[in-house]
Amino acid sequence: MYRCAKCNEPIRNVNALGLQCEKCGSKIFFKERPNVKKVLKSD
Ligand SMILES: [Zn+2]
Repeated sequence: MYRCAKCNEPIRNVNALGLQCEKCGSKIFFKERPNVKKVLKSD
């Protein structure tokens, strides 16, 4: 799962050229980690 770095829109479509935000056309993304729960164990 990727999100647009500009408008934070989730990227769902991947075309032949790669990823592109369908909202703003940006090609800069960051990877979204799904449901990352940080559990700190101290034991
Ligand atoms: Zn965008």
